[in-house]
Amino acid sequence: MLYIFVNGKILDSESPAIKVFDRGMVFGDGLYDVIKMQNGNFIFLEDHIERMKKSAKFFGIKFPYDLEEIFEVGQKLSAMNDLKEGELYLQLTRGVDIIRDHVFEDDYEPTFVEIVQPVRKMNPEIWQVGARVLLHPDLRHNFCEHKTTDLLPNVIAKKYVRSRGAYEALMFRTDEGGKYVTEGASSSYIFFDGEKIIAPKIENILPGITRIKVLWLAKEMDIEVEERRVYIDELLKMKEVILLSTLSRVLPIVKVENFEFKKGEIAKKLDVAFMDLCASHLSVK
Ligand code: PMP
Repeated sequence: MLYIFVNGKILDSESPAIKVFDRGMVFGDGLYDVIKMQNGNFIFLEDHIERMKKSAKFFGIKFPYDLEEIFEVGQKLSAMNDLKEGELYLQLTRGVDIIRDHVFEDDYEPTFVEIVQPVRKMNPEIWQVGARVLLHPDLRHNFCEHKTTDLLPNVIAKKYVRSRGAYEALMFRTDEGGKYVTEGASSSYIFFDGEKIIAPKIENILPGITRIKVLWLAKEMDIEVEERRVYIDELLKMKEVILLSTLSRVLPIVKVENFEFKKGEIAKKLDVAFMDLCASHLSVK
């Protein structure tokens, strides 16, 4: 059992808190975000909230709390659940219908959920040994620049790779030039070609907070960064494949399918710099 926050109230996670006609439940009509909790701090909270607010505006969903309120609830949940390391999960849905109906009006009261939960199980050696990823078609919609709750294609891609012993999917779409990389089921990718970092450009992929911070760090280190489409055929020429996310940090990828990559210096350097940046990050107060 965890203490959670739903629409202004702290509840036991096992209590019935969400209504059946909540549009998040019926249509996946909502947004979420995941923030790392480190030593009781919520790392880059303001960036995550900013991303969520922008998407809420885009979809016309009311955003009911400000940064300070979300921070204070997070701190309260962290204390009540006796957790200092873990993740802060935020979910916002458009609100509740009287009967199921695709059509929505403009005056919903949104459903806002805040959860502090323990760190998900990850083998701590993974950053040393690197991970394997598998190719998987990107089967999602055209709203992937937003962190929407309708995650079925991501869940299916993740199950596909985990049931084959791999860590993450490397998803691709196809254009006239062939298959090009989009992102992971819950992560971003960047590549190092020996001279510069190449990042798939933000076109129907999530602007990951880790991606933004790591590309900034790379530029600070005088490493050139190029943002463009990256084709699967080009991967053979890459020196490093690197996975990024709030929970996976900067993770070296040592195999894409059965094709091997070196666990390189760039991933290592960026992970050290990223961990330093997280450690030095002070949340709102
Ligand atoms: N892409 C997708 C589809 C994701 O779910 C995530 C994880 N939130 C990311 C990228 C990485 O984003 P972030 O660095 O903000 O965790």
